[in-house]
Amino acid sequence: MHELGIAQSVLEAVQAEAAKHHSKPVKVGLRIGELSAIDPDALRFSFEALTCETELQGLELEIEFRPRRHRCLDCGAEFEVKDFIFDCPRCGANRNECVGGEELQLAYVELEEYEPSTA
Ligand SMILES: [Zn+2]
Repeated sequence: MHELGIAQSVLEAVQAEAAKHHSKPVKVGLRIGELSAIDPDALRFSFEALTCETELQGLELEIEFRPRRHRCLDCGAEFEVKDFIFDCPRCGANRNECVGGEELQLAYVELEEYEPSTA
């Protein structure tokens, strides 16, 4: 289950971000492509297992799923591939290349409002 390693590195990135701003992370957004071979449920499970009973417990995880995208080599149109239909919806050609869907990105880290102790 490589999702555990991924969750681990995501949490490290979140902690680094939080430390930079001296704040507590409350929510993290991840962008996961269809082709990244990541199981969102397994990732969510790993995430919860790793944050359980740590200072990050309760940290919310939002997963944004990105479908596979191709670009037509004839007309340049970009389109989402559904049901393994690779024909260009604009010109009907079937010569195209994969341009997206392999993402594994940290979309955002939401931090707790920072209240300065000295005014
Ligand atoms: Zn086309």
